[in-house]
Amino acid sequence: MAIHVGARHHRDELDLAKLASTILETVQSPVVLWDAEGYPVLFNGAAIELFGYSVDVFAELNRNELIHPGGGGDAMRFAAANPADGEAEQHRYRSVVITQRTDVLDVDCSSVRVPLQDESSGVLTEYRDVTAQLAAERELARHERLYRGLVANTTGVVFTTGPDNRFVTANQTWLDLLGLSIKELRAKTLAELVHTDHQARTLETREERNAGRNVNSFVLPVETSGGGCVWLDLDLHSVLDDVGQLLGMQGFGHDVTDEHEERERLLEEASTDGLTGIANRRHFDEFLSQQVASAIRYGTSLSLVTLDLDRFKRLNDQYGHPAGDDVLRVVAQVLQGVARETDLVARHGGEEFALVLPQTDETGALMAAERCAEAIRAAEIQHDGQTLRVTASFGVSTFDQAMHHNSDGLLEAADRAVYAAKRAGRDTVRTAQSEAA
Ligand code: GH3
Ligand code: MG
Ligand code: MG
Repeated sequence: MAIHVGARHHRDELDLAKLASTILETVQSPVVLWDAEGYPVLFNGAAIELFGYSVDVFAELNRNELIHPGGGGDAMRFAAANPADGEAEQHRYRSVVITQRTDVLDVDCSSVRVPLQDESSGVLTEYRDVTAQLAAERELARHERLYRGLVANTTGVVFTTGPDNRFVTANQTWLDLLGLSIKELRAKTLAELVHTDHQARTLETREERNAGRNVNSFVLPVETSGGGCVWLDLDLHSVLDDVGQLLGMQGFGHDVTDEHEERERLLEEASTDGLTGIANRRHFDEFLSQQVASAIRYGTSLSLVTLDLDRFKRLNDQYGHPAGDDVLRVVAQVLQGVARETDLVARHGGEEFALVLPQTDETGALMAAERCAEAIRAAEIQHDGQTLRVTASFGVSTFDQAMHHNSDGLLEAADRAVYAAKRAGRDTVRTAQSEAA
């Protein structure tokens, strides 16, 4: 670096030596001019402060005593180089020095060759203490490695999204679960990954877990690249900037597919009749109560058909209990075949079945019951090489809040109609209304 003189002044008129020494005293950077042997020629107060020696001791020190064995090769090389070799006149390098207090400091050095008397040349070095800066950088790098390791090694799912909701980063667990590359994932949003078959059941937010926290918890069905479905228990945190603008989301989750499927299986098991595979009494009671509540609320019609197999004890006695079981299984299938998708067919007693018919009035329910009676009558049930036949007696009741009040009332009315059908000679349908009249 050269010294430049302003246009209004002339180099010859300035006492450059005096000015240079004043400047050296004033600058805040530690500066030392070393002679060819490495002894100080000039040094400023900042240098004394940096290295921690008294002026008298420093004045007699050799530069080698300051250079830590772990660094400083560059300084040596620069000092030893012959300028005639064409080495740059100015040299910047990082070095490690040791102070009087034995502190080891990282310093950035800027050295320039300076001609001294007797044709020897010295080195003017400006030091900048970068110890704290390097320590901070190392600490940052250590944290970075630590967090990268955590994210990479966790068996949980970790990802971030940007303000447009598209994925930005994702750990391997998440990519492996989805079967996507990071590039493919970055084109997507979380909403786009929700499995289409389960959209209606999506986002079971668990509010109690979220109370007072900037986080939403979900159990999400997520579609994988192969079209499969994995269930993800997910915490989503919003990331805001200083002024509260949304920068994106952080997601932490884990795969709960096995637990989810087990829970579904247990639920299914708890609501299914073991012999016939159709809804059991528990499921029937629950469904009928829901439908009664909905009929009251929306003023829609609702009908119930119950049936009891005729002379079933005799069939058991004649052909054996296993034959009776086969008959029950076939009847369940026959009823399922007649029912609509929104109806519920249940086995609600030993040889008693029921059909809950939402949004169906008495006329519709009567028709359904007649169709069921006809289908059961027509069924040829194979057991041990024999063909068995069975009939049933049907009761139909249509919900009327003033008359039935609740699901129990509706069920009792249907059962009374079944007994009326029995009294009328069996294999027939009766309505509760005609009985009450
Ligand atoms: P009704 O026409 O008056 O209904 O005569 P029923 O013989 O059907 O009437 P009852 O209630 O006296 O008999 C019901 C029979 O159903 C008695 C019972 O052994 C039989 N049953 C109940 N559950 C099962 C079952 O799971 N399997 C078999 N095989 N039989 C069953
Ligand atoms: Mg019975
Ligand atoms: Mg019976």
